[in-house]
Amino acid sequence: MEEKKLIAGMDPDMLALHLAAAGIEERYSRRLLYWIYRRGIQSFSEPDDIPVRVKSALEERFLPGVNPPVSSLRSVDGSVKYLFSTAAGLPHETVWLPEGRRLTVCVSVQSGCRMGCSFCATGRNGWSGNLTAGEIVNQVVGLPDPFTHIVLMGMGEPGDNIDEVIRACRVFTAEWGLAAGRSKVTVSTVGVTPSVTRLLNETEVNITLSLHSPFPDERAEVIPVERRWPFTETLELMKEYGNSRRRRFTVAYVMIKGKNDSKRHLEELRRLLHGTGIRVNLLPYHPLAGDSEESADEETMMQFRHLLVTSGVGASVRKSRGADIAAACGMLAAGRSLRKRQ
Ligand code: SF4
Repeated sequence: MEEKKLIAGMDPDMLALHLAAAGIEERYSRRLLYWIYRRGIQSFSEPDDIPVRVKSALEERFLPGVNPPVSSLRSVDGSVKYLFSTAAGLPHETVWLPEGRRLTVCVSVQSGCRMGCSFCATGRNGWSGNLTAGEIVNQVVGLPDPFTHIVLMGMGEPGDNIDEVIRACRVFTAEWGLAAGRSKVTVSTVGVTPSVTRLLNETEVNITLSLHSPFPDERAEVIPVERRWPFTETLELMKEYGNSRRRRFTVAYVMIKGKNDSKRHLEELRRLLHGTGIRVNLLPYHPLAGDSEESADEETMMQFRHLLVTSGVGASVRKSRGADIAAACGMLAAGRSLRKRQ
């Protein structure tokens, strides 16, 4: 018997084609997507505006593709880390971060990652597989919590799974999808240049470049992909688009004590970013097991931010969230703890 098709991740045209092939009127396409993306139905019995005969036909050939998380962990700061599993058993984590009226969902795009960044627990665990657009979308639709913002900053590199990431971003922003609003969706990347070009051309999302160091040789030591796709290529693309499209570009800068928090680093950041409109997001470092390095202290980070801002480069310091449940930046490992013992 033919395997049932999962609807989550599809757009109206794609679903209409599948419906037609199953002998179901195409006009139900958008209505079904409304029930799946906005109402998160897990069964076709739920919609009250779809005829019973259509529901029966759907049940034979399709599944909504909305599944709840397998487990969750709540931090003392209110953030929650969820563990999901795909039908093929690929574990992946999602973090819900409430902050006043801003409710951010941080989703994964892969189970693990093959980029191998040295400061990241996901990278240290290796790669188990890509998530489909439906599995990425499910991390928002299948959550029990509401959201205002979606960031693709969890496990995996979006640029290494770009077809599915672009499909998911369309679902997030489209009126027929979650209608999150383009300024509310952000993709974070280490800068896979061809994928960044596609994100710019095919989506309307904000983009964050994970920089770590403004010096290519130093950056390559911790983010090996620098050797293949220099970060300067992504910065150039951001600059080209910066003044012509309404989207936000940011550089994420994880600050490690004595490594990338010097005056030399600050000067080079200023030189690279001054006048570009690209903002800097300074993040604390979360040491992993076996690490001898530690995060720059709060005073250094605030001083770094101050000197960037007074020289005309927009900058902010992001508070650490969910570190006690290994949900903070660079700590997601889908159940395998790489936390440094205190
Ligand atoms: S920082 Fe991002 S790209 Fe690098 S290993 Fe971690 S998940 Fe992968």
